Amino acid sequence: MTWNLYDRLLASAVTDQSICIEKDDGTTLSYAELAALSGRFANFLAGLGIGPGHRVAAKVEKSVEALALYLATLRAGAVYLPLNTAYTPAETAYFIGDAEPTLIVCDPKDEAALRAIVATAGGRIETLDPDGQGSLVDAASACPSEFDTVERAKDDLAAILYTSGTTGRSKGAMLTHGNLVSNALTLVEQWRYTRDDVLIHALPIYHIHGLFVAGNVTFAARARILFMQKFDAERILAAMAGATVLMGVPTFYVRLLQNPDLGPATTAHMRLFVAGSAPLLAETHRAWNGRTGHEILERYGMTETGMITSNPYEGPRVPGSVGQPLPSVELRIADPDTGAPLAVDEVGMIEVRGPNVFAGYWNMPEKTAAEFRADGFFITGDLGKINPDGYVQIVGRGKDLIITGGFNVYPKEIETEIDAIPGVTESAVVGVPHADFGEGVTAAVVRAAGSSVDEREILKALSGRLAKFKQPKRVVFVDTLPRNAMGKVQKNLLRDRFAGLYAAKT
Ligand code: ATP
Ligand code: MG
Repeated sequence: MTWNLYDRLLASAVTDQSICIEKDDGTTLSYAELAALSGRFANFLAGLGIGPGHRVAAKVEKSVEALALYLATLRAGAVYLPLNTAYTPAETAYFIGDAEPTLIVCDPKDEAALRAIVATAGGRIETLDPDGQGSLVDAASACPSEFDTVERAKDDLAAILYTSGTTGRSKGAMLTHGNLVSNALTLVEQWRYTRDDVLIHALPIYHIHGLFVAGNVTFAARARILFMQKFDAERILAAMAGATVLMGVPTFYVRLLQNPDLGPATTAHMRLFVAGSAPLLAETHRAWNGRTGHEILERYGMTETGMITSNPYEGPRVPGSVGQPLPSVELRIADPDTGAPLAVDEVGMIEVRGPNVFAGYWNMPEKTAAEFRADGFFITGDLGKINPDGYVQIVGRGKDLIITGGFNVYPKEIETEIDAIPGVTESAVVGVPHADFGEGVTAAVVRAAGSSVDEREILKALSGRLAKFKQPKRVVFVDTLPRNAMGKVQKNLLRDRFAGLYAAKT
């Protein structure tokens, strides 16, 4: 039996006239048309000699053609390697050098820069321009639309996805057809997805969230995608009248809440709001519920594992919790040092095992070996706890845990308190080497426009709310927090920046 994701999810799409994608301009593409387009692209790739063992890198803007290229790469039996469109030429050079793709597909505007990189890294370049002459789209239009999808086994690679690079340099997560198929089918069931669903898709498609969670899950159900180039609150609110599902990062919800048009009438047609990729504040969950009557469903996952937990479709969606492990996923909380299982409500390392867990990091056998326990559990790097009802709460990343004077401090708890202080826009709390305490709790704070809140006021506000050892030793005001291309705060850069802060205190 073949495990090729395309065959598993879309084999019969060729005769399916239902709408798959509706674009920004209102034009539509049926499943049959998507099948034909991916068939043409697959023939084009096969004509270049691309098949099993090859990697196709894509650094392309979001488009129907880019999605078809993803499917075509899988159909040809090759490995898809999407690259964040925000990467600079130097960053891109690293990924190309690391992954050594046989073919790189890029936007015409990036062609010259990429050619310079490829001159040293090897590999062939094609451009992808939905309307443009001379691009892959043009060349493939002469190819037949039928293509015999190459058989793949469960453990064969389907994609290499680089992690977001929040904690350091991005790592290439090798995902198999089995990983992707399993996650897509599990989520269809978990979220009660059907052909009648219409998904508002405003996420990028180089990341697991937009490509696999939003993309594959919708394909698996043969539902419809409203394809939006980027987040636009007004357009999303307008689209809700004809849609049923929104998948977004927490910031989507924060920004939608700022729009006065959001209310029960705007969201009446919708049945599901999903949030993930970063923590959804309990406050946002409650505010959304208050304004719309809907409860956001928060879920948790990572590039290496796909989705791990989800709040239930029916049953309580607990604010501040990422829900329960998905039916196909085994999850345990373990002692970070020894791997010994911990009791209910104890904070420890989140470890997972199941058909969703990746095959390892590309080109990093030692790192891969270090992140798995002997019994096959993957060490996620996230700290959390599980309550008696099986709900998981994430307390932060292991790398961000602060140990000060022998006490464990979880930055999220302190950030939540600081963010609630009037005049503060946002904050990030890190541990900085400190001669007396080992690490000193240090807060980077962004002031709201026009606010003059100072260090003394912040420390005073925290003094009644947090135990002494959790209170920041210093508050440093910054204009912005450093973020990666996915918008996640890069605490390692803050730690570097504050490294000498307590040097004099010996
Ligand atoms: P890198 O591994 O390169 O440092 P990254 O971990 O941010 O980057 P991703 O795989 O995109 O790369 O993100 C997965 C991480 O995002 C998880 O390990 C977790 O820390 C965080 N995350 C995802 N969903 C949630 C959620 N609902 N609540 C809290 N954190 C979440
Ligand atoms: Mg990670």
